[in-house]
This record gives sequence, C-alpha cells and structure tokens, in this order.
Amino acid sequence: MSTSHKAHCLILPYPFQGHINPMLQFSKRLQSKHVEITIAPTKSFLKKMKELPTSVSIEAISDGYDDGGIDQAKTYEAYLTRFKEVGSDTLSQLIQKLENSGCPVNCIVYDPFLPWVVEVAKKFGLISAAFFTQNCTVDNIYYHVHKGVIKLPPTQNDEKILIPGFSCPIEASDVPTFVIYPEGERILQVLVNQFSNLDKVDWILINSFYELEKEVIDWMSKIYPIKTIGPTIPSMYLDKRLHDDKEYGLSIFKPMTNECLNWLNHQPISSVVYVSFGSLAKLEAEQMEELAWGLKNSNNNFLWVVRSTEESKLPKNFLEELTIEKGLVVSWCPQLQVLEHESIGCFLTHCGWNSTLESISMGVPMVAIPQWTDQPTNAKLVKDVWEIGVRAKQDEKGIVRREIIEEYIKLVMEEEKGKLIRENAKKWKEMARNVVDEGGSSDKNIEEFVSKLVTIS
Ligand code: UDP
Repeated sequence: MSTSHKAHCLILPYPFQGHINPMLQFSKRLQSKHVEITIAPTKSFLKKMKELPTSVSIEAISDGYDDGGIDQAKTYEAYLTRFKEVGSDTLSQLIQKLENSGCPVNCIVYDPFLPWVVEVAKKFGLISAAFFTQNCTVDNIYYHVHKGVIKLPPTQNDEKILIPGFSCPIEASDVPTFVIYPEGERILQVLVNQFSNLDKVDWILINSFYELEKEVIDWMSKIYPIKTIGPTIPSMYLDKRLHDDKEYGLSIFKPMTNECLNWLNHQPISSVVYVSFGSLAKLEAEQMEELAWGLKNSNNNFLWVVRSTEESKLPKNFLEELTIEKGLVVSWCPQLQVLEHESIGCFLTHCGWNSTLESISMGVPMVAIPQWTDQPTNAKLVKDVWEIGVRAKQDEKGIVRREIIEEYIKLVMEEEKGKLIRENAKKWKEMARNVVDEGGSSDKNIEEFVSKLVTIS
C-alpha cells in the first residue's frame, strides 16, 4: 500500500440499532484522530434509516435480502448463510471499488457477529479488528460457553456459578438468556461464534472501559489482545473534545425531540422517571399494564418510550386518561439528550448495553427490568458490582408487578437506602469522562490503535 494514503477504516456493523450506534461513535473518535472512515451497513438496513450521519461516508453492502433484511429470510440460519455468501462478495467489491477510486482501505473494523469478514480482510491483506458491542463480562461468559469450560445452564435455578475471571458468583437468572433457554440455542451459536476467528484478527476492541470491569478485562487480556475503547457516547456529553459532534447516529426511528425536551424543561430537577426498553424488546401485554399503573401510581412524573409496534399493549384508555402534567409517552426519544437533562432522576431500563453505558455516562441511577439476551448480566453488574441501581423482582410468571415498580422507583430516587446508589452513579459519570479524556484508559487504547494504523498505511 502506498505510504501517501491516510489510514482508512471500513466499518462493518451488524444491522441492529444497538450495534450500529457504538460503531458509529467509535468511528467519529477515529476520524478526530485523522483516520478516514467508511461505514458499510446493509442495503436493507440503510433503507430503514430515518436519520443518517453527515460526517462519515456510507457505502452499503448486501446481506442478500435487500428489500427486507432479516425479516425477509425464512430462518435466522438462512439469513446468516446468505449474508456470509453475498456479504463476502459485495464487501470484496466495495474494497476493490475504494481501491480503484484512490481511497484504499487498510483496516476493517467488523462486528464479530459476522466472523467471515476476517477471511475477506485476509484476502486483501488488510488489518482486521473485531468490535464487540457487548461488555467484557458478557463476552467472558460466551467465551466459556464456546470453550465448553463451563456447562450452562446450572442444574438448579439458585445454584451459584463461578465464571473464571469474574469473582462475583452468578445464578441462572444473571446469565444471558440464550445460554439458559433451549429455544435460544441458534442465537447462542452466533454469539459463541464471535470467538471462532479471533486467533486471526489483529485487534479486539470492546465497548466498555477498563475501570468498569478491571478483573475480567485483566483475565481476558491473558487470552486475547483486548482493548476497551468505550464509552462510545458522542464527545459532547463526555470530554467535549470533538467538534461538531451533535448528531447521534444512524437511526431507524425518528426521535420526538422537541416534544420530549419541551416537556422535560417544565419538570423539577431530578424528578422524572425515564422509561425505555430499547429498540427490540417486546413486552408482554400484562407487563405493559403493570408498568403503566406502576408509573401512574408513583409520586413521580415519567417520560415513557413506547415504540409504535408496542402501543396496542397499553391498557385501554391509558393514553386518553394520562394528563400531560403526569407523564409523556413518545414513540422514540433522543435518549442521550433525555438522560443528560437535569430533570431526570432515574432510568427504568431493560439494561441493553448501550442504554446501560449511556446511563452510567450521564450519572443516572437505574431500575433494571431486564428482558432477554445479555440484559440480565448487565443488570447484575448494575446492581451488585457497580451498585448504581436495583433490579426489580419478577413474580413466578416473570412479571414485575406495579407495587414493586413504585417501591423501586422511590428507593432509587428519594429514599435514604438509595443514597449510595445515587452517589455511585455520580462517581461513574466522572470516570466515564476521564477514560475518554486525554490520557484516559480508553483514549490511550484508541491512540495506540490509530498509531499502528498510521504506521502501516
Ligand atoms: N434509543 C434512543 N431513543 C429511544 C430509545 C433508545 O435513541 O427512545 C437508543 C439508545 O440511546 C441506545 C439504543 O437506542 O443507544 C438502544 O440500544 P440498547 O443496547 O440499549 O438496546 P437494544 O435496542 O439493543 O435492545
């Protein structure tokens, strides 16, 4: 490769909102360090976007289902097989095209949900970097399932299990759901396959930061050359070192920004419960009803994100009877702006990793109601390791009842018992800023990555 070229990273995300967001934010950090960026989402995902970033160039590849993406595929396996086949070809064509147009790529940063990308990178002699969107504790659990070192699920529900590298004992209810439930086996395969090509990659980047998961990061570093680079939050919310970093991302939902901010502006400081279950989770109608009444009965006002596909599960007349003084229900919000708002007192969350990391970065304590995938493990970390929130107890039907919702909101927002949680949340907010600031642990890792890229480009 010619020495006259800038380092150029091709970013290959898995087509989920929660996977694209952190990769886009990481890209902006690289860009600020003079690395050229091209993001390559799938054509089907690109078609769904309501918002596109203006600061990075976008070139789509194909997953073989250009009209509907995964929804068009008969099975998940069929989707992944075709994605690998068509994706490898269209990715190769894109690399060639960039080469021909005088902007050759020298590195591919890819989501390890797509381990075949490493083969394409090798074919073209490019550096490859796996970008794990989950935290290291979750990755460590999948690693041990991959290695067959630990047999999950535990035989009894309350049996304590020790995962090497993580001294806090966990129970079945703390483990990612795909490990526990037989119906999750196919997805579990994708998750453990993330490790299948890692011996061939040059870098392993993790969307977390060292101080959050020291023990497990130290342990995993003995096996893989991992580097934490998070939190992947726009700089304007953290160290403020990146200019023109206002936009949030590649979004498939349109946020109701003005409605949310105008409403929040009228609320007292630290008084509002912000509620969201992210972009994918589908709640039981019974759970929605309990939530609705739990929120309505609580002393606090609330801002609740109910995606349009979930709205029919709200109790009858709930929206009609809700006064604007008490609560606002929106289909999507600018979550970072909301979490940053001084009126927010707690985040009632599904504990998706992005939401958790965003809440940590904004110093907002959490009431965790995890639903599936890695969310139970994230909730465990929030409650028992970082002590920045509580985890709401489910009944035998798996539903969190309205009384518990009310009780836990009060605990986190007002009660003396929740004081340590509120203080810890502030402490982690400070830490999240420090790690991306000059010389912080994540900043150093990003610097190291960039300097190696520049040396070989
Ligand atoms: N999000 C948002 N507006 C909303 C709800 C969520 O911008 O109303 C964003 C949120 O900031 C996060 C992402 O969507 O970056 C959700 O990712 P997460 O990992 O928390 O959950 P997932 O959607 O993958 O379950």
